[in-house]
Amino acid sequence: MKEGKLIVVSAPSGSGKSTLVKALLENDLPMAFSISATSRPPRGKEQDGIDYHFFTPEAFQKKILENAFVEYEEVYTAKFYGTLREELQNKWSAGQHIIFDIDVVGGLNIKSQYPEQTLSIFIQAPNLKVLEERLRSRATEDEALIQERLTKAQLEMESATEFDVVIVNDDLEQAKKEMFQKVKAFVEQA
Ligand code: 5GP
Repeated sequence: MKEGKLIVVSAPSGSGKSTLVKALLENDLPMAFSISATSRPPRGKEQDGIDYHFFTPEAFQKKILENAFVEYEEVYTAKFYGTLREELQNKWSAGQHIIFDIDVVGGLNIKSQYPEQTLSIFIQAPNLKVLEERLRSRATEDEALIQERLTKAQLEMESATEFDVVIVNDDLEQAKKEMFQKVKAFVEQA
């Protein structure tokens, strides 16, 4: 099995990361989305096997014990997220590069396990106020969860320098273009 490239996209919640990842998947590069496993319940229109593999907390713990994850983490209190080994194997076998929408710690973890194969990208929101507005306008979380996400976002902003590429998302179209150029150059290099 030939292994493809890994494109890690990390950013604070609300930075527009998911929008940018979706845009990248609409180009013609052979690239697939890494569907993470999570123990949190589905939000809005999210579907099992498309947005996430939704696991019960018990099923998630069982996978940890089976060493089924390349990386996993308790991203928020009692809410686990992780990348399944079989997710990478299936996509590589299909000849695809893999793009990850994953948090900062998980992203850097993947980069350290696959240093040559991975391009790590950090999406920076213009500032915390914009981030807060985006989180509130999404209106899918209650106040305590928004506060938890904002606290984590502040910490994550400080990790930007550890990534290969930083893209500031103040102009969405510009950010999409920049990301596409960087990713295309990386996947096409030997
Ligand atoms: P959300 O609940 O908003 O979908 O995701 C919460 C956070 O978990 C986001 O920062 C998201 O990128 C991160 N996340 C999603 N999947 C994974 C994963 O497989 N591993 C890690 N470490 N974080 C993930």
